[in-house]
Amino acid sequence: MSIDLERARRETLGCENVLHFNNAGAALMPSPVLEVIINHLQLEVHTGGYEAAKQANSQIERIYQALATLLNCGADEIAIVENATRAWDMAYYSIPFKSGDRILTSQAEYSSNYIAHLQVARKTGAVIEVISNDENGQISIEALRKAIDERTKLIALTHVPTSGGLVSPAAEVGKVAREAGVLYLLDACQSVGQMPLDVETIGCDFLSATGRKFLRGPRGTGFLYVRRTILEQLEPPFLDLHAAEWTAKNEYTIRPDARRFENWETNYSTKIGLAVAVDYALSWGLAEIKERVQALAQTLRDQLAVISGVTVHDVGAEKCGIVTFQVAGKDSTEVQSWLEERKINTSVSAMNYARLDLEERGLKSLVRASVHYYNSEEEIARFCETLARF
Ligand SMILES: *Cc1c(COP(=O)(O)O)cnc(C)c1O
Repeated sequence: MSIDLERARRETLGCENVLHFNNAGAALMPSPVLEVIINHLQLEVHTGGYEAAKQANSQIERIYQALATLLNCGADEIAIVENATRAWDMAYYSIPFKSGDRILTSQAEYSSNYIAHLQVARKTGAVIEVISNDENGQISIEALRKAIDERTKLIALTHVPTSGGLVSPAAEVGKVAREAGVLYLLDACQSVGQMPLDVETIGCDFLSATGRKFLRGPRGTGFLYVRRTILEQLEPPFLDLHAAEWTAKNEYTIRPDARRFENWETNYSTKIGLAVAVDYALSWGLAEIKERVQALAQTLRDQLAVISGVTVHDVGAEKCGIVTFQVAGKDSTEVQSWLEERKINTSVSAMNYARLDLEERGLKSLVRASVHYYNSEEEIARFCETLARF
C-alpha cells in the first residue's frame, strides 16, 4: 500500500508554512502527537502532575510496548531517556573498559560518540580503532572481520550518519559481532522512523535513538534498547531510586529490566507523545515509509545533479532520505540561510558533527536536505527551482 500523501500533509500542520527538508534535524510532528501532548499538559494543569501521571498511566506505559513492536524486542528491553546521546552514553559508560581493550568503530561515527571514545581511551587505556571504508564509502566488512581479536570489547556503529545519504550495513556488522561474541552498539538515531529496524536481524546488543528526527516525536525524547541476556551484567553509570531500590541501610538492588538506564523524573507528556508517534509510524508502515523516502531522496539527488554549480556528495551502496550537497564557491551556511529566508528548511553538516567522515572526503561542510514521506514531489521541484536561482 502506498502512502496517502494528502492525508499525511493534512495531518502535518507545518506543511502549510514551510518547505521542510530538515527531517534529519527534527521532523514536523503530526497532529495526533501534538494533541496527546497538549491534553496531558492540560491534565497536569488541572489536576496536578503526580495525579495526572496516575490517571494517564496506561498511556504513559504504552511507549515500552510501542517501541518493542517497532524494534522487534521485549518491552522490558526498552529504556526511555531524554535524547539519543544520553541513551547511547548510558549503554556505553556501563561497559567496563580496561587498558588494552579495543573499541572498533567506523568513519561514519557520530561526533558525540567519538568524543566519548576519546574520553574512555584517555581514562582507561582502551584503544580506538577506526575501520576503513570499502569502495562504496561504508564500513568494510572484510577489514572489520580482520580487525577482531581477543581484546576487542565493542563494535560501535552509526547506522545512518548525520552527514550524508549512507546507510551502513548494520546487519552485516551484526553478523561479525555475533560470530566473534563482541558487544555491538548501534546508533540508530537517523534510521529509526525512516526504515524498518529489527534488532534480531541486525544482531545488535544495544540500539540508541531519538524521538524528534524521522520518528516525528517530540523534542527531548530518546530511547535505548538493551538485549535481555546482557542486561544484568551491565551496571549503569548513574543510579537513583528509579533505577535501583534501597533495600537496607547499606544495600541496594538494581532493577532487572532496561529501565535501570532511566532516571526518575521525566516528561510524561512527551512520553505519551512519543508512543503515539511510534504508533503513527507503524500505522503508515515502515517499509512503505522507507520506499517513499528513498524514492523522494533519489528524485532530489537527480534534480540537484543537473543544477549547474551543485554537487551531490552522498555515498553508500544503499542510500536514505538524507541528501547532502555543495554549491560551488558558496559557503554551506550561506546557502542554508538564503533558503531559510524563503521558508525552506535545510541544515548544515559541519566538521564538528562528523570530523572523521568529512576529513576523509576532503569536505569542510555540506548543505543537508532531508526528506520525509509527507514531503511532496512538488516541493522537490520548488526546492530545486529556488536553489537554481541562488
Ligand atoms: C542527532 C544524532 C545523534 C544525537 O541525538 P540527540 O537526540 O540529539 O542526542 C546521535 N547520532 C546521530 C547519528 C545523530 O544524527
